Amino acid sequence: MDKSYQSFNKHFPKAISKDIRDYVTNVVLKESRYIFIRRVKGIQFGYCTHCNNRFMTPTPLKHNDFTDCPKCGSRCEVKNHGTSRKYMIDSGFVVYYEKSKVNPNAIIARAWRVSRDYTKEYTEVKTHYQHLAKYLFEPGNAEMYERYFWNDTWHKCNSVYSLESKSLHANNWCSEESIRKAIQGTPFQYSTWDKHDQPQGDYVKFFALYSKYPVIEYLTKLGFGYFVQAKLFDRKTFSCINWRGKRVDQILRLSMQEIKEVQKCGDCANPLHLRLFQKSRSDNNRPSFKEIVSFFNRSEDVASYLDYILNYAKLSQVMAYIKKQLQHSKNREYRDYPAILIAWRDYLQECIELGYDLSNDFYLFPKDLYEAHQRTMKLVQMKADEILDQKIRKRVKELEGFCFEHEGLLIRPARSAQELIQEGKKLEHCVGRYTEDYAEGKTSIFLIRRLNAPNKPFYTMEIRDNRIIQTRGFKNASATDTVKTFIDEFTKAKLGKKSKRKGVAV
Ligand SMILES: [Zn+2]
Repeated sequence: MDKSYQSFNKHFPKAISKDIRDYVTNVVLKESRYIFIRRVKGIQFGYCTHCNNRFMTPTPLKHNDFTDCPKCGSRCEVKNHGTSRKYMIDSGFVVYYEKSKVNPNAIIARAWRVSRDYTKEYTEVKTHYQHLAKYLFEPGNAEMYERYFWNDTWHKCNSVYSLESKSLHANNWCSEESIRKAIQGTPFQYSTWDKHDQPQGDYVKFFALYSKYPVIEYLTKLGFGYFVQAKLFDRKTFSCINWRGKRVDQILRLSMQEIKEVQKCGDCANPLHLRLFQKSRSDNNRPSFKEIVSFFNRSEDVASYLDYILNYAKLSQVMAYIKKQLQHSKNREYRDYPAILIAWRDYLQECIELGYDLSNDFYLFPKDLYEAHQRTMKLVQMKADEILDQKIRKRVKELEGFCFEHEGLLIRPARSAQELIQEGKKLEHCVGRYTEDYAEGKTSIFLIRRLNAPNKPFYTMEIRDNRIIQTRGFKNASATDTVKTFIDEFTKAKLGKKSKRKGVAV
């Protein structure tokens, strides 16, 4: 056995105490109490698996009924002596806390799978304890060892975690009474463990966190329990909290004066407010915490938009700009600040794409956000279309060799995104969707036209890997005989093999 396990194990008692056994018997496996009935010479006898007494039944009992044992008073389920007990095993998962044997400041917890197996002789059933894990929580340190069954050894886990989720049964228990007793007189006594929702019912994650971050107590008492919850459930904490901080001001990254300001607002404050207050510390025109709270008063999560915008502007400027845009008579488009933040962020991203200088207030704070955003959106779209068309022009060059004419029909590659969209609209099929694949060279789109009406959409053809994938006319019509002949001739001349037409709809 290795040394670190040995010193770890010193914290744990060897035995399973009477308290634990009572908890398991009376709570965890409370339902696992049966009276087995059998008839001997016409008289019904019962056997209670809880008190192990045999008795004549006062009134006849029936299989699967519930009744109180006349000897011990336990609520029991009645079972026929002869019933099949092939699968009759009751089990549960239990975590129980105790004080450490060696460190008065530490608490421990043990996890067991407990079971009662009735598949053999039901008069000899004992509760079986399968030890699964040991936890140690002490100031600055939390450890967990898990047992490997195949060689009955204990292994240190990388992090402390609950085995509850691994448990296949819903019958999971943790004695809160045992926690209350264990933490008495230890630093865990005021940990606020019972003030938070828990991801699992066994509290091991909470105590592991608390061992590392005693600031949890402060945070909870200051009304910042949200952050503790966020840590417990692995949610965002916005880096608002300095978890290693010792003093309140270090923890909240604010001065005592500022913390008082925050506390005055009580429950209405949320992590976003706190973060904005922290982030605006160096603003010369800094809004008060109360102003921040009453301004950002909606539940929408706008943190990421604000983050982006605060790269370019101070919080006071952001708030002033939002107010102005909301008042702006034309800006009925934005009814509330989240709408403005979203549009503003998008607009700023478009400005970056278009190469505008955002250190210039003219671009950063456009007089009319809606109009400015419409403009940049169009420009960005045009830029994207232009890039697409450049790619398509390159494809047209590559595909020129496939141009072909025969008996009044011609075929040629599609020349632009616009042309493809028009083709799709006129023929009422959806070739427009293929524009990007076409531009990227993933497929090739050809237009079949009549020689006497070269600009009028007629049939559209998709070719991939030198193979015709589909040919579609108006409303996805298949090729007419004339078109079929044309396609055969085209195939012979340009694709070098017999055409394969497939009826896949576009
Ligand atoms: Zn009994």
